Amino acid sequence: MAGANIFSKVLAVGETATPTNAVGPPIYQTSVYAFDDVEAMDDLLHHPRTGFTYSRGRNPNADALATFIAELEGTEAALVTSSGTAALLTAILTLRPAGGRILLPLEVYGGTVNIVHKLLEPLGYTPVRVDVRDAAAVEAALTDEPAVLALETISNPLGWVPELDRLIALAHARNIPVLVDNTFATPYHAEPARWGADLVVHSVTKFIAGHSDVILGVVAGSAERVRAAAEIVDGGGFTPDPFAAWLALRGARTLALRMERASQNALTLARALEPMPAIVRTYYPGLAGHPDHVHAERLLQRGYGAIVTLSLAGGPKAVRELVAGLRWVRLVPSLGDLTTTVAHPTPPTKSPDGRPRPASSPFIDGGQLRISVGIDAVDEVVEDFRGALASIS
Ligand SMILES: *Cc1c(COP(=O)(O)O)cnc(C)c1O
Repeated sequence: MAGANIFSKVLAVGETATPTNAVGPPIYQTSVYAFDDVEAMDDLLHHPRTGFTYSRGRNPNADALATFIAELEGTEAALVTSSGTAALLTAILTLRPAGGRILLPLEVYGGTVNIVHKLLEPLGYTPVRVDVRDAAAVEAALTDEPAVLALETISNPLGWVPELDRLIALAHARNIPVLVDNTFATPYHAEPARWGADLVVHSVTKFIAGHSDVILGVVAGSAERVRAAAEIVDGGGFTPDPFAAWLALRGARTLALRMERASQNALTLARALEPMPAIVRTYYPGLAGHPDHVHAERLLQRGYGAIVTLSLAGGPKAVRELVAGLRWVRLVPSLGDLTTTVAHPTPPTKSPDGRPRPASSPFIDGGQLRISVGIDAVDEVVEDFRGALASIS
């Protein structure tokens, strides 16, 4: 049976009972299920969460992954969605179905900005950007109007770590529900439900699945909230494919091992790069010089995650040269792979109609390079960066 230790917990998922005693979980690659009689079918169609009828609503592989993530996040329930983006949209619609204010950090995942500004604003929601690193600013934004507060455990790309416990308490004092995107921290480093988060969201695509082979998301929280979320996922068709859920669960079983290694590697890499002259600043919450290091120490467990961002003295040109100089670290517009990859956070451009696009972060200046540190041999990663930095003219 599963121990309480996270390394045992992640191994326990293979212990699912199956009719054949299979050690590896079977894949239920089916869209629909057959019934013995009309009564049994009608009964299940009226109580969809009690069994399996049609895979848009429920599938055993998605259920197994959801149970696993709920266990790691310490929530009553969880629900897998077709993407992290679908999970974010589902969480907002679950917590605020009828419009209202959506309070977002100044620096937030670009897809969240897109959902809130492009999809939800025309439907009557009002986006409000707040500096979540300033509790007084958050308190001022928490008026009595209906709202939802959307937070992230570790921000992209600069690794801000807001005081989530304090902010969640402030929101709850005003009856404002809170969702936390925990993608960058993963449950290995943080369990936001402990601080009262009403829904915890992940892009499972990234560290939880961990092998760059699926697009998936998850929403975790109380059984009641997850039931409400399930109506949106079924009704909106934000459902995962069974094979994707199976792959993600296979990946998730090594989450603790991968995060242990990747976050150690990230700290080593950040410390090695920080003193280099071509780098103005190294952003990693595990470095004593990071502005949120004190919060990271207090709130994160077992390390500080796998994302390190460099700000280069030579600006965008130096970023292009550094990327060109890397011998085997690849340029990938995502994160959370087994290997170390880099991405280039881009400053906001104008929309085709000439209006400025809402920024995912006012701190992005084109001279930054985001590194998603993998489980590779860190000495070789450091060496690749040293060589590439030396090639900057
Ligand atoms: C990638 C990402 C998402 C969106 O997830 P998809 O699976 O790509 O839809 C949401 N939040 C964060 C922090 C992410 O990095």
